[in-house]
Amino acid sequence: MSAADKPNPSKPAKPQAGKTKPDPRDTPAMRQFLGFKKSHPDAVLLFRMGDFYETFFDDAMTLNRELGLTLSERPKGVPMAGVPHHQLENYLAKLVALGKRVAVADQIQDPREAKGIVDRGVTRVVTPGTLVDESLLGAGDAATLAAVTHADTDHAGTPQAGAAIVDLSTGSFTVIACPADALADQLAGRGITELIAAATAAPSNDKGEPVASAITTLAESLNASITPRPAWQFRAGEALETLCAQFRVKTLEGFGLGEHHPAVPAAGAAIAYLRETQSPATASDPTVQSLGHLRPPKLEACDDTLVLDAVSLRSLEVERTIRGSHTEGSLLGVFLTGKTACVTTMGRRRLRELLVRPSRQIETITQRQAMVAALVAEAPTARALRDELGNVQDIARIASRLALGRATPRDLVALGASVRGSAAVRETLTDLPAFAPATEALERCIAALTPIATRIETACVDEPPAHLRDGGLIRDNIDPELDEARSLERDAGAWLADYQAKLIAEHDLPSLRVGFNKVFGYYIELPRAQAQRAPDILSRKQTLKNAERYVTPELKDFEQRVTTAEARAQAREKQLFDELCEAAADCAQAIIETGASIADIDALAALAAKAHARGWARPTITAEPVLSITAGRHPVLDEALDTRFVPNDCALGTPAADQATDQHQPAPPLALITGPNMAGKSTYIRQVALIALLAHAGSFVPAEAATIGVADRLFTRVGADDALHRGQSTFMVEMTETANILHHATPASIVILDEIGRGTSTLDGLSLAWAITEHLSSENLAPRTLFATHYHELTDLDQQRPGRIANRHVAVREWPAGAPDAEIVFLHRILPGRADQSYGVHVARLAGVPTPVITRAREVLGSLSVEQDGTPHIPAPEPPKTPTPQTAQPQAQPQAQLGLFSTTEYLPHPALDALREIKLESLSPLDAFDTLRSLQKALDQAPKQTPAQPAPTDATPAPKHPSAAANGPNTPGT
Ligand code: ADP
Repeated sequence: MSAADKPNPSKPAKPQAGKTKPDPRDTPAMRQFLGFKKSHPDAVLLFRMGDFYETFFDDAMTLNRELGLTLSERPKGVPMAGVPHHQLENYLAKLVALGKRVAVADQIQDPREAKGIVDRGVTRVVTPGTLVDESLLGAGDAATLAAVTHADTDHAGTPQAGAAIVDLSTGSFTVIACPADALADQLAGRGITELIAAATAAPSNDKGEPVASAITTLAESLNASITPRPAWQFRAGEALETLCAQFRVKTLEGFGLGEHHPAVPAAGAAIAYLRETQSPATASDPTVQSLGHLRPPKLEACDDTLVLDAVSLRSLEVERTIRGSHTEGSLLGVFLTGKTACVTTMGRRRLRELLVRPSRQIETITQRQAMVAALVAEAPTARALRDELGNVQDIARIASRLALGRATPRDLVALGASVRGSAAVRETLTDLPAFAPATEALERCIAALTPIATRIETACVDEPPAHLRDGGLIRDNIDPELDEARSLERDAGAWLADYQAKLIAEHDLPSLRVGFNKVFGYYIELPRAQAQRAPDILSRKQTLKNAERYVTPELKDFEQRVTTAEARAQAREKQLFDELCEAAADCAQAIIETGASIADIDALAALAAKAHARGWARPTITAEPVLSITAGRHPVLDEALDTRFVPNDCALGTPAADQATDQHQPAPPLALITGPNMAGKSTYIRQVALIALLAHAGSFVPAEAATIGVADRLFTRVGADDALHRGQSTFMVEMTETANILHHATPASIVILDEIGRGTSTLDGLSLAWAITEHLSSENLAPRTLFATHYHELTDLDQQRPGRIANRHVAVREWPAGAPDAEIVFLHRILPGRADQSYGVHVARLAGVPTPVITRAREVLGSLSVEQDGTPHIPAPEPPKTPTPQTAQPQAQPQAQLGLFSTTEYLPHPALDALREIKLESLSPLDAFDTLRSLQKALDQAPKQTPAQPAPTDATPAPKHPSAAANGPNTPGT
């Protein structure tokens, strides 16, 4: 349809003057539809008509385009596409996955009772951040909504921000306030799928969304969709009112939120939004209570947790792998797969939280450790516990569906069984004092829930139907009205047989028969011969050739009851179900608290099961900025390689007495790790980061022993994986991430750097890496840092910063030792000191680079090594024996090609040699001045060289550049 003839949904065409024909689009239903569309302009509107949810105009085109649904026209000129009503959830899931918001308009009146058009209303708006139905949510995933506002500056002049984070599916409601530039890090890893923010006057991003550009950037970094909301909902006064009405309080002080707290506007706006999406009809009426399962806002202090920004979460593969984005192979996967995996879905979500936002509070960490330790020590109890946990369903989500009126029969029955399951869980933990606080909380909740659980278990069958409409949820002998309706339905045949026998006996009419047909319903039939003996109670209904048919008042009544029995049974069952749901919804808070306790217990049980199975150790947690690991292993790779994994130690900032590997030297806070590619540098630095992370989560760690000082942040800068698609160059991404670290690292941070400066020229890269190392090892900063680098030159820094920088290398064995074509064996052992060479060519050979190329690379390498003492001379390559199409072409002069090495970066100059010769230790200030002057003169006098000019290859001696130090040449990629 062209834009010109596309109807404007908001305006049915007016009848034109002189034409009396009414607009076919101006129907009552269409007017109803347009009214809803006006209230929800940015949502796809699904409009219930009979057995279908229909869409019109642009929405229909969207369904046709995105989901391949057939497009029709009804009324004429109106594009329409629909989905069968029983497939609603299915299509909702598809639309939400496409990032759409969907408004569902239902019939809110029985069509049989409607006079004219049936009443409809928008019953819910489904958005990416407000999902609660199991079919729309992955069991272990969070679909979280965040409302954000930028607030005034604090007393130090730093702009502040506030945020409210709501998981509607579990009722959790967290608020935070932090410096505006820390907001992205605070929100990372919370599974935020939708961001709401105050709308600005005009569109400001390329999707035409009217939100501040900082919000667009934030949403991009979180991979969340944006929903602009009316700015007034973010005003402190309105927000405060909304919050007080929702939680039925006069002030928010009890939640630790003063009137002017920066998170209040966001929290109020979040509630207003949730009310609008979940119960659109009553959203603006504060007297109507909704979202009963939502917990009061919990104020989270930003310094409670070890902050892992989005980059670190991704590069450490905490939740999913970089390649393939799988849970399996990630840190989380270690606890979610295999025999030791978390048992409940609530536990899986909790474990994810523990790993993504580990604690920074020593007390919290040690409490968790104590529980893990208790289960590690009591293996039979731990096994029994996990068996019992298997009987607890996802009651947190059930509570939210109960509160939102969307629970299913299975939810209700699962709740009953889960309360019993939770009681059994509590029972198994009785003898473990470390669990006392958890079990006490559980006990209180279970006591509150037992009455409703008993009601459910008494009333409902053990294997409930998926849908209430299927019938059969409520047991027999619970409700006489339901029993009667059901027995009529089931026992109609028996009743009729009894009735027939009774009539025969009473009136001595042996040929009397009671029957049924679709047209006439139930009847009593007598052969014509006996018709004159028909008693008075039979009234004639139909005359056949050989028989007469009758009815009695009793039979009519029976017919009436039987034909309505199914509907009555359904209605009665719904009534009983609703009553149970309502009673259960009243206990939503206790259900959610039970769920939270079970989630904690399950997550810690999974940590314990892993620690027990793989022999992990309990780390010592301290406030000192130290990091000491004995025989540490990479939690993921260790499982994959099992006994082939080589454990390694680590010591950063450790006091001398603890330090066995370093000959009682205090361990510097920064270690440079050198060694060939494939030796295990990345594995090592990641393993240290993951061990530190696990320790903060309260877990045991894959090591023989560890002492970990709590950190404020864990930064990583490793590889430029998938950032290219965001239109930034690899080097730009690398530098942006590095800048973030340099700006935000503190003496309490842990920093993991892998190969900084690769994306630029060697000298640029080396200079940057050098300066970054100096900065990070400066006395007033010195976070615990591991820096894996291929710049061997950096290893000289340990001399300049004694006690603050240590060299470590990954051991490699040559076979036969020293031979030019020696095989190399990676030992994967981290040892003190620097690596002696890069072995880049060896690694290339292992990677399958063709032999002629390897041979040539060795020749070049040999010649470049000469550069240390004189001019490099690189021989021309041997011509291949059989010319290939490429080699058959005339070749460029090798000298001209190889001029690259000698002209671009390693400019030879006598002044450089002179500079190297200077003995700084014995230079007086005056001598220094003189020396500088003569160096400058030498520079002016020497012939100028530019990279474009090939350097003289035999007259000028090559400089002793750091890149040509003992470790060999430093070409990109070594
Ligand atoms: P680098 O960063 O030095 O290039 P990696 O850390 O990527 O090397 O390790 C390369 C491979 O070596 C890994 O995929 C792994 O298979 C193996 N490896 C690394 N560390 C160890 C170890 N400690 N024990 C056993 N194998 C290891």
